[in-house]
Amino acid sequence: MLKATGIQSFYGNIQALKGIDLTVAAKSIVTIIGANGAGKTTLMKAIGGLLKPRGGQILFAEEDITALRSDQRVTRGIALVPEGRAIFAGMTVWENLKMGAYLRSDNEVGHDLEKVLERFPILGERKNQLGGTLSGGQQQMLAIARAMMSRPKLLLLDEPSMGLAPLVVADIFRIIREINQEGTTVLLVEQNVKQALKISHYGYVLETGKVVMEGNAADLLGDLRVQEAYLGG
Ligand code: ATP
Repeated sequence: MLKATGIQSFYGNIQALKGIDLTVAAKSIVTIIGANGAGKTTLMKAIGGLLKPRGGQILFAEEDITALRSDQRVTRGIALVPEGRAIFAGMTVWENLKMGAYLRSDNEVGHDLEKVLERFPILGERKNQLGGTLSGGQQQMLAIARAMMSRPKLLLLDEPSMGLAPLVVADIFRIIREINQEGTTVLLVEQNVKQALKISHYGYVLETGKVVMEGNAADLLGDLRVQEAYLGG
């Protein structure tokens, strides 16, 4: 579904991505792991179209999307939930959700709003509340729900469990798995390596802008180097 080859990204003269090759199969969950500063967020931004790569190519559903803007990628079915969530704090839950559908021109937005509120009952209970007054976990759910309102084929989730309590984290992983089982492909960046790999099919390990290891998620979970570096030995 997604095939990135030779992706190079820079911040000024600093090269954050040094030729990344990454494939995400349709209907799968793929996790990217790596230490702080490895380039995970930069890669998500490159795929989401928020950062123009200086080299390489991104194919989505066999179309070359390398030169497309982020809104054009959303229309094609790629939605990014950025690190830190970026919900609209001054808008209600309901308004936030509607913003997720702003590029759609079909007449099923109302139906999808209902569906999303069923999946996230807590958002239904708080639909008139301002986004900024929600707890961290609720804001993360809102960010995911808002992205789902664009009807993505590929959902990019950058550190969805960051800063959340263990019970909430478990909830977030359950939701990601459900979304995937209903047919959405997921590319995930996570510090919570063990739980992420447990729900994933495939994984990549990034170090200083390069892929240093890749494989089936179960194999990565069992790999001694991964265990030592990312799973606390
Ligand atoms: P983290 O887990 O800390 O978010 P990451 O793996 O997502 O790490 P990136 O945020 O992609 O890493 O950063 C990759 C490299 O690019 C790092 O060396 C970082 O310092 C640098 N970098 C990131 N954002 C910028 C920026 N806006 N300006 C300059 N350098 C940046």
